[in-house]
Amino acid sequence: MAITLPDLPYKKDALEPYISSKTLDFHYGKHHSAYVTNLSKLIENTGLAGETLEGIITKTAGDPDKAGIFNNAAQIWNHTFYWHSMKPGGGGVPTDAVAAKIDASFGSYTNFTEQLKNAGLTKFGSGWAWLVLKNGTLEIMKTANADTPIAHGVKPLLTVDVWEHAYYLDYQNARGDYLDAFMQHLINWEFVNSQMT
Ligand code: MN
Repeated sequence: MAITLPDLPYKKDALEPYISSKTLDFHYGKHHSAYVTNLSKLIENTGLAGETLEGIITKTAGDPDKAGIFNNAAQIWNHTFYWHSMKPGGGGVPTDAVAAKIDASFGSYTNFTEQLKNAGLTKFGSGWAWLVLKNGTLEIMKTANADTPIAHGVKPLLTVDVWEHAYYLDYQNARGDYLDAFMQHLINWEFVNSQMT
């Protein structure tokens, strides 16, 4: 299975003013694209060349000799999931099944936003903050660098990229403002609901 760069689910300026087309030019057009180029080269003529992206991730997770392959594969998967976690005109209070699940798991939507923001702010260095479904309950999870819940058998529902390349052009060092904009204006709750089943 060839590793390819998936299309963005919206135009590059669709998330403005919260995420600029300039950020997406670099983040999607350079960073995400480079992970695809790198992984394609790394798996050439290896037993992983015929694997799906998910298969490459699970087969290389935790293997220090395969860290380069794992990192590029997981970053491709995480970025595609991140683009779909957002939409123009998104954010705010959740809808449908995930709304009740958030109340049951966190006590309230406000508590959920505080925990997600705290996870994003306290991820030291580069990584990701996630909403995941674990044993029937929603939890907040942080992963470092390229690491991804699917490498740990945990089901992701939503992610926000907290690598500096995700927000520095638009927010400089104000990671908290980027996280607020993500939650208030960008989360695609329809996508989150679609991942619950
Ligand atoms: Mn990124």
